[in-house]
Amino acid sequence: MAKTISPVCKLCRREGEKLYLKGDRCFTPKCAFEKRNFAPGQHGRTGSRGSRGMGTGRESDFARQLRAKQKARRVYGVLERQFRRYYETALGRRGLTGLNLLQILETRLDNVVFRLGFAVNRAQARSLVTHGHFTVNGRRTDVPSMLLGPGDTIDVRGGSNGLTYFKDMGVVAEKRNTPAWLGRDLKKLSGTVSRMPERGEIEGTLNEQLIVEYYSRR
Ligand code: SF4
Repeated sequence: MAKTISPVCKLCRREGEKLYLKGDRCFTPKCAFEKRNFAPGQHGRTGSRGSRGMGTGRESDFARQLRAKQKARRVYGVLERQFRRYYETALGRRGLTGLNLLQILETRLDNVVFRLGFAVNRAQARSLVTHGHFTVNGRRTDVPSMLLGPGDTIDVRGGSNGLTYFKDMGVVAEKRNTPAWLGRDLKKLSGTVSRMPERGEIEGTLNEQLIVEYYSRR
């Protein structure tokens, strides 16, 4: 399975904001962004964030569109080729392309596992799915990019719910809120997609309009 290989904290520093990619650590003083709020690399302290004048106050439209797209990719841990495919799928759906794109990203199985509180971050959720610890509608799956829709149910697989991780997980998950578009039963270690997420229920700092502009100009 393809994955982003850069140390995740560098991605936050590159974007110039916290992307909360690690989970609980992101909310502590140990957060690398709190300690080093400048872009990684040799010119990080004095130079721009990324390319094309980022962070210099002379940011071009292209640079803003590129950054918006890169940020969304990094938040959801999706590689460029797949992200572009999602955009094309979103374009082909009825409604607003930007919202469609965000809904596609939100309804990936790994993201749903994360949103249900069954993993501390999306990377862990992806790993748990890849190792076959979940079923969707009763069928075992190891595909983190699987897209879910209203009515789909997610369960911890029978052979996995005896593992220490999943025994402890219920207690940890209880402290995490689940968005209203998902239902959750911690006793059964299961979740349901009740409906598609609305814009207000998706990461507010993402700018889907800029992402659409980025792909529209190419
Ligand atoms: Fe980003 Fe979290 Fe690392 Fe802080 S701890 S830099 S928010 S991934």
